Amino acid sequence: MYDSQNQPLSFLVQVVDLTRHKLAELALQRAEERYQVLFENATEGIFQMTRQGYYISANPALANILGYESPEDLITSLTDVSKQLFLEPMRWPEFLDQMDESGEVADFVAQVHRKDGSLIWISLGVHTVVDAAGSFLYFEGTVEDITERQQAEERLLYSALYDSLTGLPNRTLFTTRLQQALGLAQEDPDWSFTLLFLDLDRFKVVNDSLGPLVGDQLLVKISDRLRACLKDADTLARLGGDEFAILLEGAQTPEESLVMAKKIHTGLHHPFQLQDQEFFISASIGIVPCRDSKTGELYTTIEDLLRDADIAMYRAKHRGRACSQVFDSSTHSSPLSQLQLETDLRRCLERNELQLLYQPIVAVPSGKVASFEALVRWHHPEWGLISPTEFIPIAEETGLIVPLGRWVMEEACRQLRTWQTEGLVDESVKMAVNVAGPQLTHTDLVKQIQEILQETQLAASCLRVEITESILNGDENEIEGHLERIKEIGVKLCIDDFGTGYSSFSRLHRFPIDALKIDRSFVIPSKMSEGKWDIIKTIVSLTGDLEIGAIAEGVETREQLIQIQKTGCEYIQGYFFSSPLSSKEAALLLQRGGFEELLNPAKSEVLPVAGV
Ligand code: C2E
Ligand code: MG
Ligand code: MG
Repeated sequence: MYDSQNQPLSFLVQVVDLTRHKLAELALQRAEERYQVLFENATEGIFQMTRQGYYISANPALANILGYESPEDLITSLTDVSKQLFLEPMRWPEFLDQMDESGEVADFVAQVHRKDGSLIWISLGVHTVVDAAGSFLYFEGTVEDITERQQAEERLLYSALYDSLTGLPNRTLFTTRLQQALGLAQEDPDWSFTLLFLDLDRFKVVNDSLGPLVGDQLLVKISDRLRACLKDADTLARLGGDEFAILLEGAQTPEESLVMAKKIHTGLHHPFQLQDQEFFISASIGIVPCRDSKTGELYTTIEDLLRDADIAMYRAKHRGRACSQVFDSSTHSSPLSQLQLETDLRRCLERNELQLLYQPIVAVPSGKVASFEALVRWHHPEWGLISPTEFIPIAEETGLIVPLGRWVMEEACRQLRTWQTEGLVDESVKMAVNVAGPQLTHTDLVKQIQEILQETQLAASCLRVEITESILNGDENEIEGHLERIKEIGVKLCIDDFGTGYSSFSRLHRFPIDALKIDRSFVIPSKMSEGKWDIIKTIVSLTGDLEIGAIAEGVETREQLIQIQKTGCEYIQGYFFSSPLSSKEAALLLQRGGFEELLNPAKSEVLPVAGV
């Protein structure tokens, strides 16, 4: 301040406190430094980018995530994100749209290329940076590599929907697709689909005998074969264990589905090779069209569809192995089991492992051999002798009984003819051959017999076919027809194991039979001992009425023989006389002239012929 002479009087001092300012400046500087530290050291990728997709800045982490040597390398190399970065170029405009709409994105997930071309999953979090006036400056954001998370999720989803062993869709995914197919068929009456339900035959035996590891390997091979039979559009699923399901989409008549099923049977026909072993696997297939073939009515739930497919499958199993069955509402089920021997059984004919034994059937009281029953034996190279009670049922189930039965018939006829020409027997001695149900119903048995008789030069009247009583329980008219045709060519017929098959006497006269063989269970000692001789007596007198012969089988002791003789039964088969004999032993027996001495022990004490 000055006076009038312009001399200084005093000073006016203004003090400004700059602390806040200075601190703010410092803070800003620090923040920038800290951001720089974060930017440089973050594990997340951080970037700034123009709307055109050019990077303004990128941190080392982003370069690392995307596989570039440095941020500079990334900024100069990556100039067109829509093409260079995103696996699907459309993701970039999609990203821009989202930014325009809300100014930011939080978890934008995309699959992107790294510099070397490999693919990773990233998650983007981006916001828009504007100037004071609110005009767009750039995008700023973070990038996280979520490949591992994504893969884990995929794995989780995969294991929830796919079978881990075969890689096929599992039950969950299959039922979802089935539900979708049913929905489509409900909307469009012209659109249809077919469900195939497939169960492997006797797979359990493979698993039980060779272990689940081999079973698993076999399942993988089987699913590959099945897949090869189908079109890409068809869904093949493993429902669990040895059950598979197939969804055939598009119009399909039951006939067309059967053709497909046949293709599958053929596909499985060749043996599977595993650990130097061959496995023969077949499947039973149940088929269900989505609409009833008669009424055209559509199924309402997939549960009903699956249930009926299951029923049809069991029906197929019941008919024999490797069969298919289209569902019809009158079907019902019956389960089956066992394999193991099957693979080897297929080879036993080629390998000459079968042998026929002959058990004499003796006329009493003369002791003469009235006939022989041919009984097959299997000499397995590893397991030794296998009983026909074990392998005949498998042969029946697999259809192998047809070639096997033919071999037996041929061998038996040839043998009897040989004995005839050698003068060991006359034409009154017969050869009895067991014939299984499938042989009777599935093949042209009569033609086969005629060919064999022709070949071996054996008279038809010398051959007797034995069928078990249980066979008679099938379709009466059909069975009668088969038996009539056998009779017509002059071959004799015998009902085997009579008394076990629950057929009523009244039905017996319908069938053109020559003899009844009373089952062994009536002869062996049991609690109802007294009454059973009466039963045998009744059966024998019935055969008298029907003018057919009665044969008692399984007679082992003299006591039983005496009792049997009292019932009036004239023909006896059993260990008392002889167990089944080899052809050489049987020839010796014939040379000796039968069992006269044995029936009359007073004459001489001759031991029964030793059997095999
Ligand atoms: P099956 O036709 O009833 O044959 C009689 C079975 O009783 C034979 O058993 C025979 O060895 C046995 N046997 C005979 N006498 C006695 C005895 O006194 N006591 C006892 N405990 N058993 C006696 P195998 O040879 O084991 O045959 C069993 C079954 O296998 C046969 O019963 C038959 O049903 C079937 N089979 C055998 N060979 C053939 C064949 O070539 N084809 C067919 N389809 N089945 C056959
Ligand atoms: Mg028999
Ligand atoms: Mg029998």
